[in-house]
Amino acid sequence: MGLKICVFEGDGIGPEIMAPTQQVLDTAMAKVGAAPLSYTAHPAGAGHYAQTGDALPQASINAARASDAILLSAMGLPSIRKPDGTEITPQIELRFALGLYAGVRPVRVFPGQPTPLSDPRAAQIDFVLIRESTEGLFAHMHEGIVTEVDATETLRITRATSEKLFDFTFRLARQRAARRGRPARVTCVDKANVFRAFWFFREIFHERAQAFPGLVTDAAYVDAMAMWMVQRPWEFDVLVTENMFGDILSDLGAGLLGSLGLAPSADIGDGIAVFQPCHGSAPDIAGQGVANPLAMILSGAMMLDWLAGERDQPVLSAAAQMIENAVAQVVAAGQAVTADLGGSAGTEACADAVMAAMANA
Ligand code: ATP
Repeated sequence: MGLKICVFEGDGIGPEIMAPTQQVLDTAMAKVGAAPLSYTAHPAGAGHYAQTGDALPQASINAARASDAILLSAMGLPSIRKPDGTEITPQIELRFALGLYAGVRPVRVFPGQPTPLSDPRAAQIDFVLIRESTEGLFAHMHEGIVTEVDATETLRITRATSEKLFDFTFRLARQRAARRGRPARVTCVDKANVFRAFWFFREIFHERAQAFPGLVTDAAYVDAMAMWMVQRPWEFDVLVTENMFGDILSDLGAGLLGSLGLAPSADIGDGIAVFQPCHGSAPDIAGQGVANPLAMILSGAMMLDWLAGERDQPVLSAAAQMIENAVAQVVAAGQAVTADLGGSAGTEACADAVMAAMANA
């Protein structure tokens, strides 16, 4: 039997982009001669919360744990809220439930993709931001102490998680270097000049780097990095940072891409990982068949690439590469892209174009 994929179809445009993504994945798997993936959809999300009062049933978490990987579409709807007014966020709960400590946010501009930067070097933007996703300033979220006169939140960084985070980051940097044929550069982004916790974080970064000779490593303060990500983002390769800093910088990265419709992501733990687009459920365009499926499709390609290493099936990397190349072709041609990228194609026509590009590969 093929690898077991736990699917959360999500809310809003979620199901609309999930169906064509599975078709694209199936096409790529067939093309490289790999066994078809076995998908099972499980309930979660705002719609499920509205019906049952539970946004992420325990049975769904168990199913996610028992799968080889999890493919998650956009979740949440502004119209459906908890009694305290907050939106439901099962995608964040999953990070904690499954211990997904490394949030991977690639920031890559495809040839022909419009970006908000006018500098021609913006076409060379190709870096990845790794956001620690289970601790930092989020370690004790919802536990802040607020009195009449002050408010206190706690930032926690542990050696155990930091070591795993940096080892993952250095392995990923090596893989990127091999694929791109250029030396890897890994930058630790912190605030070590002011906070002792970040000095601790940075020291562990340098310690773990010793085990990965051949990598160029350096460190930068987060405020300077925010400026450089706008001034010269084409210079970076791999950035690794704390949870809250990563939260902010990953949106800055998505901003550089021009459209959220091209931003994939992965949340990785030990032997388990969730793959999902960076965008939300876009209720303003849901049900119209016009959502851009490419971020979800690229997230699916990241899943295959991760499974290739995790399940020792290198052929899946070839399938992932085939999907990325096909997406790059569709974006460059510009004829079958959706409105957010300046085209007039619908969701299905865009995904069909990706499959057609793979057929010719
Ligand atoms: P969340 O807080 O859940 O991330 P959000 O409220 O920030 O969500 P999105 O749902 O991501 O926002 O939508 C922001 C804007 O981007 C909307 O106008 C939406 O239509 C657009 N958008 C998001 N995803 C896509 C997509 N895949 N294709 C086209 N437009 C999209």
